[in-house]
Amino acid sequence: MKLFPEASRGLANRIGIFVLLGILLLYLAVGISLDSIKRQVNHQAEIDSVQEVSQSFNSLQDQVRQFARDYNNWGDVYLAIINNDIDFISDNYGITAVNGDMFDGAVIYDGMLADPLAWVSNGTRAPQKSSLSISTLEQIRIGVDKLPKEGRATFDFAIINDNKLQLGSASRILPDTAEALSFVIPENLSIGVILRTITNEQISYIARNSNVTDLQITQVEKQSKTVMPIIGVDGTAFAYFHWLPPRPGSELLGLIAPIIGVIFVVIGSFGIGGARLLRNHAKSLALREEEASRLARSDTLTGLPNRLALKEYGERLDAKGTDDYAVILLDINNFKKVNDLAGHQGGDELIKDFSKKLRESVDSQIFIARVGGDEFVAVVKDSTHITELARHTVNIFMKATELCFNYHGLQFPIKSSYGIATKTVTSVAFDDLLGDADRAMYVSKNGTGNQVTIYNTDLDAKYAAERKIEEALRVAIGSPDELYMLYQPIVDARTMKLHSVEALARWNSSSLGPISPSVFIAIAEKSGLMVELGWVLLKKTLSDMQHREDLRVNINISPLQLLAPEFIPTLRCLLIEYEISPTRVEIELTENVFVSSCDIVRSQLHQLREIGITTALDDFGTGFSSIGYLQTMPFDTLKIDRSFVSGLGDNETLGNILRSIVSLGRTLGKSITAEGVETLYEAEILADAGCHYLQGYLFSRPQPLDQVLRPGADILPSSEPCVWRLRHALAG
Ligand code: C2E
Ligand code: CA
Ligand code: CA
Repeated sequence: MKLFPEASRGLANRIGIFVLLGILLLYLAVGISLDSIKRQVNHQAEIDSVQEVSQSFNSLQDQVRQFARDYNNWGDVYLAIINNDIDFISDNYGITAVNGDMFDGAVIYDGMLADPLAWVSNGTRAPQKSSLSISTLEQIRIGVDKLPKEGRATFDFAIINDNKLQLGSASRILPDTAEALSFVIPENLSIGVILRTITNEQISYIARNSNVTDLQITQVEKQSKTVMPIIGVDGTAFAYFHWLPPRPGSELLGLIAPIIGVIFVVIGSFGIGGARLLRNHAKSLALREEEASRLARSDTLTGLPNRLALKEYGERLDAKGTDDYAVILLDINNFKKVNDLAGHQGGDELIKDFSKKLRESVDSQIFIARVGGDEFVAVVKDSTHITELARHTVNIFMKATELCFNYHGLQFPIKSSYGIATKTVTSVAFDDLLGDADRAMYVSKNGTGNQVTIYNTDLDAKYAAERKIEEALRVAIGSPDELYMLYQPIVDARTMKLHSVEALARWNSSSLGPISPSVFIAIAEKSGLMVELGWVLLKKTLSDMQHREDLRVNINISPLQLLAPEFIPTLRCLLIEYEISPTRVEIELTENVFVSSCDIVRSQLHQLREIGITTALDDFGTGFSSIGYLQTMPFDTLKIDRSFVSGLGDNETLGNILRSIVSLGRTLGKSITAEGVETLYEAEILADAGCHYLQGYLFSRPQPLDQVLRPGADILPSSEPCVWRLRHALAG
């Protein structure tokens, strides 16, 4: 029965998936971290590159500023402007621009000059027309005007001139001494502009110096590249440095990527291997758990579901609210006997064999569990004719299991008692039905086997009463004062003198009052108390008989007692203990003991005979055994059942049957006793038919031993003429 396999296997797979997911997450985390580090390093390098490009650029600007400071704070030039000495200015100021050594452009304008003077590298010594437009000069003026009046600050800028980037630095042209400075008239001061063209070599130098590549100057800002704006004369960006910044993060990653790749592969293979191991381990754990759960729910001997499985099955039915099902409880009759005679191994074999037949006889839809040593429960469902279906199933069970069980030459005919409870009321729970089936089965136990009882509420009272008796009997066996024996005389049919007595048990329960032996013997047999009770009664009988050495006694023994292997040895010991000669004892056995286990019974009877104990077949005629069959049984006496005797008065056929039984019995060499003789008429016929002994109320009811007469005493007390007639008839 599979209970949790899917869940267990799912767990194993989930553990494997979790481990793999864990590894993937680790990969992802390491990947993300590396990428983040790469980005940060690259970003920092980008920021650094902006700083370095602007530093390199500023150092060029610084140089231009330095030239402007030198040339614009020159007293002679300042005076030459005032004196309009253009030659001097050209020879000293402009010539440097013309030579192009330090800077390659210069412009002087404003102040005392009517027009701007300008020089360019490789140009003429004489000033030329300014390369800077009027508006540019105008903006430079604005920039210079904003400079602090004191001090020698410069206004620095960049422009595109003639398609080339030029750095410029402008300031007022001032006398170089502080003393002369105090005499200047600000309005008369000219502005000197120093310009220097940025060459391609210088751009390469900036790129090298800043460790960037592809450094370019463009007039539009490109989004993709790193950028530094170049500020023009009006204070706004008019061009941009663009470059590719160094990417140390990417380079680093490129270097360590193979190593990390190798580490990933190693972790991955370990991880996958580990996940596999874990999954396999979890799988085997799950399988073991599944197996343990299966074992916990199945009977070790038969492999059928056990009591726990039945309980869970019932709970599922209850939970689903299933209707229309029936619980069948079956119990093998006298299983204990098999255990006693064939040993536990034999008992186990029988149970295995029985279970197999039971299971194979019906569809697997029918749930069958072993719930006790010899108890089984079957549940049939899904039918509107549920009671019929249950009966039908029981018939199949009976047919399947009725064959004799063979064990090392011993033959055990197998019969069971069945109880059926069907679910007709929705509110009834499975457990209650099981209880009902049990009560019904208990009733079936009264029969000789293969009896079926369908539960109805009337059984409850009967069951309860029987259980009460069973409980009281347990107490009585423990403290046997409540139990005692009465003795009924058996008379010689020819002489009407006492021949022997039959010991009959009586129980006066302290809690329930007197209870008939037919009731409590049956209950003892059903509830497993019989063997114990049997010994108690036997000891009482033997103890009574110690004081009546003259008497022979018939002792009733239940088949369950006889079949217990220790029966004969114990009986022998007791006879010795109570000093009773075995020849004084006859054991009465009912017929059903011969029907089942005949081989064993035959051997037991032989053993009893060897000891000197005779045996009687009790209640003959109520069972199934034929005379022929009984011929093979070594018992000494045949006790004809009361039912044959009490009908004799008005049934001629019965009389004929009786006569033929008696004559056959006599032919077989048995002595014949008739029980239940109540009238003289019956006694007459029985004696006439050839019965050796008679027993019945006519002669005496069962009585305390001290009231029983001596053997040989006349036992017929009443009407003399009848006695006379009887004796006469017999004598004839
Ligand atoms: P049984 O062995 O067939 O015993 C004979 C029964 O018939 C006794 O019933 C007895 O009282 C009754 N009886 C005798 N003469 C007459 C008669 O003329 N008319 C009628 N109607 N009945 C008569 P009892 O004592 O009630 O015992 C019933 C059964 O209980 C016995 O039937 C026997 O099977 C069982 N039993 C009694 N004592 C013992 C015992 O010590 N051991 C065992 N194993 N069974 C016992
Ligand atoms: Ca008897
Ligand atoms: Ca009897």
